[in-house]
Amino acid sequence: MKLKTLRIHYNMKSKFQPDKNGYFGQFGGAFIPELLYPNVKELQDNYIQIIESDEFQKEYKSLLKDYVGRPTPLYLAKRLSEKYGAHIYLKREDLNHTGAHKVNNTIGQILIAQKLGKTKIIAETGAGQHGVATATVCALMGLECTVFMGEKDIVRQAPNVARMKMLGAKVVSATSGSKTLKDATNEAIRYWIQNPETFYLIGSVVGPHPHPDMVARLQAIISEEMKWQLKEKTGKENPDTIIACVGGGSNAAGAFYHYMDDKEVELIAVEAAGLGVKSGESAATSQLGEVGIIHGAKTILMQDEYGQIVEPYSISAGLDYPGVGPLHAFLYESKRAKFMNATDKEALVAAYELTKIEGIIPALETAHALAVLPKIKFKKDQVVVVNLSGRGDKDLETYIKHLED
Ligand SMILES: *Cc1c(COP(=O)(O)O)cnc(C)c1O
Repeated sequence: MKLKTLRIHYNMKSKFQPDKNGYFGQFGGAFIPELLYPNVKELQDNYIQIIESDEFQKEYKSLLKDYVGRPTPLYLAKRLSEKYGAHIYLKREDLNHTGAHKVNNTIGQILIAQKLGKTKIIAETGAGQHGVATATVCALMGLECTVFMGEKDIVRQAPNVARMKMLGAKVVSATSGSKTLKDATNEAIRYWIQNPETFYLIGSVVGPHPHPDMVARLQAIISEEMKWQLKEKTGKENPDTIIACVGGGSNAAGAFYHYMDDKEVELIAVEAAGLGVKSGESAATSQLGEVGIIHGAKTILMQDEYGQIVEPYSISAGLDYPGVGPLHAFLYESKRAKFMNATDKEALVAAYELTKIEGIIPALETAHALAVLPKIKFKKDQVVVVNLSGRGDKDLETYIKHLED
C-alpha cells in the first residue's frame, strides 16, 4: 500500500462535525474550571492545523505503519459468516501494537503534545489498555508519564498495570467512588487543574472540546482503511452494517467516521448492559442516561434525580463508564446510529464462540459487539463489519473464571 493513501480526509461540511465551540447538535462544549482555560484554548486553537500539517501527517503515518503495524487486516470470518448468514468481516484492531485501537489515538496525541512543547503526560485508564498505549508512546518519545487508574481496575487488570510500570509510567490509584474509570478520570482532571502545564492525553472521545473531535479524527484511520479494503474485497467501499462496542466511543467513532454521512450504511453501537439494563447493575448509558455534564462535556450520562452520577457496572473495565462521548449522544439522539446492548453473560458467550470458531480471543469489550450478532436478522448477502477493537490476553483470568458457566 502506498503511504499517501493513509492521508485522512475530513468532510468539514458533515453535520457530524462539531461547530467551532465543539458542539455536535446540543452535545459537547468545554465545561472546565478557569485554571484550565489557557491550556484547553491552546489545544482548541491548534489541533486541526497540527493534524492537517504535512509534517504531522508524515510522522503519524510512518509510526502507524512501522511501529503500530497498520493497516490492520480486514478479515472475512468464514465460519462466523456461515453461522449468522451474512458476510461478516472483522476489522482487526486487536493486531495493533499494544493490542487494541487505543494506540492510534495515543500516537497522534503524543505528536500533538510534542508540537505544543509539552514534556509531561497524564492519562486515565479503565481496562489499562489506554494506560499501556500512553505509557508506550511516552517511552517511545522519552516523556514523563503518570496514569490514573481505579483501585478496583488495578486489581482486575493486573497484567496491564505491570506493563505500564515496566514502560516507566507512574500508576496512581484512584480510591474514591466505585474505584473505576470515572474515578480515575476525576483524579486525572484534579491533577491537571493543579498542574495545568501537563498534557492530558484522554483515551476516548470524551472530555472537553477539542478532545472528542481530536480523538475521533485520530481514530478515523480505522474507517479510512475499511473503505479501500472493502473496495478490494467486495468491489464496494460501503458495507451494509458496521458494529462496534461503546465505552466512551472511540473505536466506534473511528469505525463509523467516514460513513456517518452515508445514510445507507447502518451504524450499530453496542453498550454494556452488565447484569441487565434494568438490573441496577449496568453501563447502558443511552438507555439509562439523561442529558447532563460529565468530565467537561455536555452529553448523555447516568445520573440520579439530584444529578449525582450513578455508578455504572460492566464485567468489562473498558465499558464501565457512566457516559458516552458527545458525538455518540448526537448519533443516538438523531437516530443516525442504532444503540443495542449486551449483558456480561452474552459477551462471555460471544467471546467463547469467536475463540472456538475463528481462533481469535477478543477483548471483553469487543465481545459485546460480537454478542449482538444473534440478535440481528441479516439479509442473505449483507456485508457486515465488526470492529474487533482489541485482543483478550488481558481478560484471560476473567474468561477462565467463567469457563464453567
Ligand atoms: C478501551 C476499550 C474499549 C472502549 O473504549 P472506546 O473509547 O469506547 O472505544 C473497547 N475495546 C477495547 C479493546 C478497549 O481497550
